[in-house]
Amino acid sequence: MHIALVGIGKIAIDQHVPALTASPDWELSATVSRAGSVDGIPVFTDFAQMLEERPDIRVVSLCLPPIPRFDYAAMAIQAGRHVMLEKPPGATLSECHTLEAMARAKRLSLYATWHSREAEMVAPAKAWLKGKTLRKLHINWKEDVRRWHPGQDWIWEPGGLGVFDPGINALSIVTEILPDPIHLMTATLEVPENKQAPIAAKLDFFHPHGAGVTADFDWRQEGEQTWCIDAETDQGVLRLWNGGARMAIDGIEVKPSGRDVSEISGEYPRLYQKMARLVESGNVDVDLSPMRHVADAFTLGRRETVAPFIE
Ligand code: NAP
Repeated sequence: MHIALVGIGKIAIDQHVPALTASPDWELSATVSRAGSVDGIPVFTDFAQMLEERPDIRVVSLCLPPIPRFDYAAMAIQAGRHVMLEKPPGATLSECHTLEAMARAKRLSLYATWHSREAEMVAPAKAWLKGKTLRKLHINWKEDVRRWHPGQDWIWEPGGLGVFDPGINALSIVTEILPDPIHLMTATLEVPENKQAPIAAKLDFFHPHGAGVTADFDWRQEGEQTWCIDAETDQGVLRLWNGGARMAIDGIEVKPSGRDVSEISGEYPRLYQKMARLVESGNVDVDLSPMRHVADAFTLGRRETVAPFIE
């Protein structure tokens, strides 16, 4: 299938282009970008023009920041294209509901991707937790914003999510692996005095069986980076680290079991494989639960003003 990639920035170059190049399902047939390009691929600077001139491209993948993703997605759906969305699927929940309704009305596929859910050990962690009684779960997601988001001003603006941009990846894993639904009870957001979005956040969730579920997100972590989830159950302790790529049970690392040779590996290759199946079957996959927790944190969160962030 022909596909167009829109917004040729960091994630498009790091992940989307290699995943598409290696995929048997897709042919990258155009890019839409104001400044970027991919060697050998036709580039459009105007999205409407690409939609008009390339009716053979039935699918578009949007790698833009959350704002202005809605306008592009709406335009693509109106033009009869299937749409794949980077995470988070929009700047607001309402935008995402609107897009889902539009796609369903036109019988088009819409995929709100959560790349961290495709990390190697997320499915094994989900399987291990099934049937066990959760006592405690803690997310420790701490990274250096200067290292991972250099020059990305949008991330500090309203709609940019601040530290929830990586934090939502942890929430996408937790909402995938926990058998029971959780909801936010309290939050503290640390907002630099010169920014609109938090640089750190602490969250505390309600769990239906009384387990303590907490999260600690921080963007000021220098040195070793931490993307870790610890879950204590009645039958042992699970640790997921490296963003879900590695897992240990009671301190002993569990290696990925021999996969079926037909199974694809890598977060983004798996996302594109899923998108291909969605388009073939005409389905929609929009799970907004990670984003709901972030929206709740912005609603409930107690703001604390902290030192200005200077990149
Ligand atoms: P980025 O490099 O700052 O931006 C991506 C591209 O979006 C830019 O190169 C630009 O493309 C386009 N763009 C930015 N603002 C725009 C605007 N106002 N109007 C039109 N186009 C605009 O961001 P990124 O790091 O790739 O992140 C994009 C999305 O991917 C985010 O939602 C992020 O959460 C997600 N993501 C990022 C990472 C990561 O490691 N960076 C990892 C996973 C997911 P042109 O200049 O080419 O038009």
